[in-house]
Amino acid sequence: MAEVDVAVVGGGMAGLAAAYELHRHGVSFVLIDAAPRPGGVVRTERVDGFTLDAGPDSLLVQKPAALELCRELGLGPRLVPTREPRTAYVLRNRRLRPLPAASVLGIPTAVGPWVTSDLLSPAGRLRLAADLVLPRGGGSDESVGSFFRRRFGAEAAEYIAEPLLAGIHAGDVDRLSMPALFPRLVEAERAAGSVIRAFRRKRRAAPRPAGGLFRSLPGGLEEMVDALAATLPPGAVRCRMRAVALRGPAPYTVRLSTADPISARSVIIATPAHVTATLVRPLDQRLAALCDEIPYTSTATVLLAYPQAAVRRPRRGSGFVVPRGERAVPLMAGSWVTSKWPGRAPEGQVLLRGFLGGVRDPHVQERSEDELIEQTHATFAGLLGLDRGPSLARVYRWERANPQHNVGHLVRLAAIETRLRHWPGLFVTGAGFRGVGIPDCVADGRTMARATTDWLGR
Ligand SMILES: Cc1cc2nc3c(=O)[nH]c(=O)nc-3n(C[C@H](O)[C@H](O)[C@H](O)COP(=O)(O)OP(=O)(O)OC[C@H]3O[C@@H](n4cnc5c(N)ncnc54)[C@H](O)[C@@H]3O)c2cc1C
Repeated sequence: MAEVDVAVVGGGMAGLAAAYELHRHGVSFVLIDAAPRPGGVVRTERVDGFTLDAGPDSLLVQKPAALELCRELGLGPRLVPTREPRTAYVLRNRRLRPLPAASVLGIPTAVGPWVTSDLLSPAGRLRLAADLVLPRGGGSDESVGSFFRRRFGAEAAEYIAEPLLAGIHAGDVDRLSMPALFPRLVEAERAAGSVIRAFRRKRRAAPRPAGGLFRSLPGGLEEMVDALAATLPPGAVRCRMRAVALRGPAPYTVRLSTADPISARSVIIATPAHVTATLVRPLDQRLAALCDEIPYTSTATVLLAYPQAAVRRPRRGSGFVVPRGERAVPLMAGSWVTSKWPGRAPEGQVLLRGFLGGVRDPHVQERSEDELIEQTHATFAGLLGLDRGPSLARVYRWERANPQHNVGHLVRLAAIETRLRHWPGLFVTGAGFRGVGIPDCVADGRTMARATTDWLGR
């Protein structure tokens, strides 16, 4: 049986970041991934001069862990901002309405642009502004929908919170947990009494970063995966290796489906929580049950290309989100990739991306590729006036890849941490647990690697 200091199971962003940090501390490890390549949902395909981000495409500037890692990897000079204008739209009654630029997560940071915006009705705008005078409320775990209705009114919940905040998680606005996913907003209410006032103050103290809120890499976000993997020792990353069970206590045995088991003094599990549950079940039934309770949803991205001449009503900006009430539109969101990022398509070509599925469309994986392409094309054709079908189409399916940090998540997470104390040297990370999105996964992967290093006494 092969023996190592640390086995990292799962080579998505969290596992790779953990491996990178272990290596920096001189700790020997192997990283095992079931897929043919590391990176998990971070995947870029290059086809006929197009750069197709199949999964994530944006790194949030306000959560610096991913950008810091890019800079450490020498990718700093390659980080590109979104192109101007950075307008995002919300679909309402089949019309695209710009989200006022003076907003963070849809929350106003200046009054002027909202007065003239037609995203909300006059009564809806007035109710939004009532946040400035309403007393503090909440105080316990509550859903994103409940928080928004309380502070900003039902219309803001329907046309801002649902498509934007729940939309990025492909989740249910009335289930996703506000303190688990958007603690900054909860803290803003607690500290200033009004979220808008708190955000305006912050904005004055630290103006919005130049270049907007997001960055990407010209070769797609898989550049980050390649750069990370290139820093790791040869042979340390082992793909096409599926872990099936863990036995312990330390030294732990990681059983694999098609290779001899690995003995490791410490294990970092960086798989989706439902896989983590399966792996730890032989060790700890209660821990497995808690991990299994974390819900996941499935999504799909559809990338379509057209010659520029096919677009009769071109749009400038990054894209749009679709509130769940807009039932005629099957997409959750769409990006105008070529007007969002530079260099994603050959000259004269337009690249578009649709995001489908999530809790509002749980049967997305049952639809054929042709159906998903047709639905996405029809949506874009209606909005942009496309006069022909796509010249290139790709569908990427993400089965149970989007964790849902619903109300109750933080209590469950605390229970998971308590169970883990029974298993010294065992750590879990990844989007299912302490934070969703690349920055949080990078930060948590590195934190868990440092905890491992400490536990090993290095
Ligand atoms: C379509 C989509 C778009 C997104 N857009 C953005 C965005 O623009 N910006 C952003 O910040 N975030 C975005 N996210 C979220 C972000 O990509 C994820 O939160 C993050 O990448 C998850 O990383 P992870 O390491 O936790 O998990 P994963 O990427 O899921 O990696 C888990 C790894 O575990 C491996 N594995 C599974 N089972 C086993 C097993 N039994 N044995 C060994 N290995 C196993 C898998 O092969 C995989 O490599 C998006 C997510 C999706 C799905």
